[in-house]
Formats: sequence, structure tokens, C-alpha cells
Amino acid sequence: MPSPTDSPEFPDSPTAPLALVTGATRGIGREVCRQLAACGHTVLLTGRDEDAAGRVAEELRAGARPGTADIRPLQLDVTDDRSVARAAARVADTFGRLDVLVNNAAITYDTWQRAATADLAVVREAAETNLYGPWRMALAFVPLLRASAHPRLVNVSSEAGSLASMGGGTPAYAVTKAALNALTRMLAAELRPDGILVNAVCPGWVATDMGGAGGRPVAEGAASVLYAATLPDDGPTGGFFRDGRPLPW
Ligand code: NAP
Repeated sequence: MPSPTDSPEFPDSPTAPLALVTGATRGIGREVCRQLAACGHTVLLTGRDEDAAGRVAEELRAGARPGTADIRPLQLDVTDDRSVARAAARVADTFGRLDVLVNNAAITYDTWQRAATADLAVVREAAETNLYGPWRMALAFVPLLRASAHPRLVNVSSEAGSLASMGGGTPAYAVTKAALNALTRMLAAELRPDGILVNAVCPGWVATDMGGAGGRPVAEGAASVLYAATLPDDGPTGGFFRDGRPLPW
């Protein structure tokens, strides 16, 4: 596994903000990495499959416009304590800080289930990635965010997790995203004194493996995430946004 330092063709830029994106081997996470690098962030493109992360980072670097910042692969499975701890240790050793954490990885858009007949094993498995994953990431990376001058934490959520419009269906997905929204509010309140801006975003319905055909382009969904990842210091915290506009909780 290459370490985040193994990138001779992209020399270290100590002034570039450093971002880490989970679940970045495809879909919205991949495009968030591309857009963050295009606007000057050094990006740690993480995936549970280290070969896939390496391949995607290389693809993005090969297709990048001049002036794009570095994109480096890093193995990270958000359900695995050891993987998360190892990634945090590597970031600490190499950079000593993290400026932007994007908790993007998620699973199980369970259109086949109803809450009244749900398989709880499926719900638990979804919670391990969609709720405990971002929570595990926060536990490991908040100390590195505290070392940043402009720290941002973005939880990629969904309007499916909004209680204001909650109906039936997709129970594992909707309940875990509602819980992620609650976690967002708590982290925002607790980390406000540290200047860490914590927000949830909905990317909208996006044409990815999860969203399926018919959704909007991946670039638009990723741009919705970029809004919260690149907020100014006086930007909001504890909010829920799509395309930079507030959504009801
Ligand atoms: P996607 O195409 O299914 O991609 C999901 C990504 O998460 C993949 O890279 C996958 O990696 C990764 N992942 C899954 N489990 C992981 C784990 N344990 N550790 C690390 N990475 C893991 O999904 P997407 O549509 O891009 O969704 C991205 C985010 O947007 C999610 O939070 C989703 O809930 C949210 N969202 C999407 C839509 C939509 O319409 N697409 C709408 C609202 C919200 P592998 O390649 O290894 O499986």
C-alpha cells in the first residue's frame, strides 16, 4: 500500500488545504475528490479496496487540468476500527492535521423493504456504514481537524433522512440517514468552540450505482457537497443543505 507520502510527481504543497473523502472509488465520492483537487485541495481519495483507490486516484490525476492539486490514495474501510485508526495515524504522521473530512461512504438504498416487515440484519449492516462509519471517522479524525486553521466536517446525508418529510419505505437507509443528521447536530454543537464547521448535505437524486439511471449528473451532486466542504470561516454549522440552500430536518 503506498503511503500518502508516496507521490513523487506531485510534490508536497504545505499551503494546500488537505481533504479526505470516504467511499471515493466511484460515484459522488470520486467526483468530490476531482472537484476538491481542481479547487486546490490536496485530496486523500480513500476506499475499502486499496487497489481501486490507487487506480481511481491515478485516473483522476491523469485527467486533471494543469493547476489541479495532488490526489493520493489511502485504504480506508469506515466499518473497520483498525483501518480507520491506521488511516488517521498515516495522516497524523504525514501532515499533522486535516482540514476537510467528507463522510461520503454509504450503502443499502433498500427500496425492497418496508419498516413494518424489515430485516433488522440489513438495518444493522446499513447502520455500521451509514451511521457508525461517519461517527467512527469523527472519533478518529476530530483531533486532526482541531489542528487545522479552517476545519470542515461534511456528512453526506439524504433528504430521505429528513423527519419533516419522512414517510414509509427504504427503512434502513432513511433511519440511518436520520440518525446521521442527529449526529451532525450534536457534533456541530460540541465542536463549535473548536471552530469546526459541521454540516449535513443532500446531493439530490444523482445518477450513480446507488441512485440509478435518471438522476442528475454526478458533477451536480458533488457540487452540493463542495458547498459545505469549502465554507468560509463565518459559514454555517449544524445545518442541512442541498445546493447551498437549507433543507428541513
Ligand atoms: P455509490 O455509487 O453506491 O458509491 C458508494 C461508495 O461508498 C463506493 O465508493 C463504495 O465503495 C463506498 N463504500 C461502501 N461501503 C464502504 C465502507 N465500509 N468503507 C468505505 N467505503 C465504502 O453511492 P453514491 O450515490 O455515490 O452515494 C454517495 C453518498 O451520497 C452516500 O452517502 C449516499 O447515501 C448519498 N446520496 C446519494 C444519492 C443518490 O441519488 N445517488 C441521493 C442522496 C444521498 P466500494 O466501491 O468498495 O463498494
